[in-house]
Amino acid sequence: MAFFITADECIQCDVCRLECPSGAIFSDEQQYQIDPYLCTECVGYFPESQCAAGCPVDAISPDPDFVESRDELEHKFQLIAEIQNSC
Ligand code: SF4
Ligand code: SF4
Repeated sequence: MAFFITADECIQCDVCRLECPSGAIFSDEQQYQIDPYLCTECVGYFPESQCAAGCPVDAISPDPDFVESRDELEHKFQLIAEIQNSC
């Protein structure tokens, strides 16, 4: 399950983008978004979601429309880590 940002609640503080270990968060035309194909729920990096834990206004939540198993998240982490290590 990826996480998503509720635009109406986001105050654009940039904390989540800086905390995300997989580079899944970006700002597009003044709106922060999470790429669900890069979000591992922080699996492989940290025991809890860094963006959700750090957001000062609780604007980040699990996306019920993007559900993944632990195995799928770990596989995604391995793929992203390979790319990050090759850069
Ligand atoms: Fe990035 Fe983790 Fe948030 Fe996903 S849950 S967007 S990997 S900080
Ligand atoms: Fe928006 Fe929360 Fe991210 Fe700050 S941490 S940019 S308020 S979603």
